[in-house]
Amino acid sequence: MTVFNQIAIIGIGLIGSSIARAAKETGVCERILLTDASAEVCQRAGSLGLGDVVESVKDCVETADLVLMCTPVGVMSDLARDMAPHLKPGTIVSDVGSVKSAVYDTVHAYLPETVHFIPGHPIAGTEKSGPEAGFSSLFQDRWCILTPPEAEEGGDALAQLTAFWEGLGSKVEIMPIDRHDRVLAITSHLPHLIAFNIVGTAHDLESVTEGEVVKFSAGGFRDFTRIAASDPIMWRDVFLNNKEAVLEMLGRFNEDLTALQRAIRWGEGEQLRAFFERTRGIRKSIVDAGQDTDADDFGRGGPKD
Ligand code: NAP
Repeated sequence: MTVFNQIAIIGIGLIGSSIARAAKETGVCERILLTDASAEVCQRAGSLGLGDVVESVKDCVETADLVLMCTPVGVMSDLARDMAPHLKPGTIVSDVGSVKSAVYDTVHAYLPETVHFIPGHPIAGTEKSGPEAGFSSLFQDRWCILTPPEAEEGGDALAQLTAFWEGLGSKVEIMPIDRHDRVLAITSHLPHLIAFNIVGTAHDLESVTEGEVVKFSAGGFRDFTRIAASDPIMWRDVFLNNKEAVLEMLGRFNEDLTALQRAIRWGEGEQLRAFFERTRGIRKSIVDAGQDTDADDFGRGGPKD
């Protein structure tokens, strides 16, 4: 079902190119315009046939009914400033950033009142980057969180954006901005931080050689290395822009880790077993809820290599 006539995608990486592929395949829009800061990425996107690739932000957005910012979070406010004079009245502006509060505050300040700004975040992804990494089924049966400001709640723009994401195969959840940032801090941002840290620590350990880390990286550690391969710019921006929520969750995490450390030190086996029983139950409920698919925002998966 066609929801929009023209959509503009700015930033043709994993997420932007996946939206283009899914939009083309499902027919949720008539025309897709794309642009990227990198001329080389634009050229590659053109060769991949993702849509009509244009060189400037102005050319990309001026006739669009929906503009989607698919860049790292840190550049979105500059992008909003650059595109603002070229947006036609009634355009819906949204984004796919993994952080919502900082994006809303900085982007909203630049946009004219004649457009509808509704931030969004598809809970779908892989550790890969660039236009070649995208695939059309990325959003299939995955959640997409929309965080509309009060003025957009129950409005036509929100209904259209919801229909767009549902057209791409997503299930849409409406959530307050602050809640999004706290939920994602514990379910996505902190797990990534732990992965970056454990891979760095293992590599630094003088008693374990790099060769041994690679050779014996079975099971859990291998999964961590995959997550730790996620895009450095994207994740730098996530941590810098969701500082408070991440630090709050990190505080709780450290307290619980200290309790486990104590239980190990004092040989409290029953406490350890009870804790692991509880986490095993949580895993079961995730599987039962159908959330254990190949591609998710935790950085696992995508099409098999
Ligand atoms: P990506 O593959 O690195 O793609 C981002 C693209 O944006 C790159 O081609 C980059 O070009 C381009 N770009 C950077 N600055 C720009 C600017 N000022 N104007 C136009 N293009 C610009 O990243 P991604 O994984 O698609 O992530 C994009 C967004 O989605 C991020 O905000 C991220 O938080 C969010 N997200 C990611 C995931 C995930 O799992 N990856 C999941 C959900 C949401 P250069 O490479 O030349 O800098």
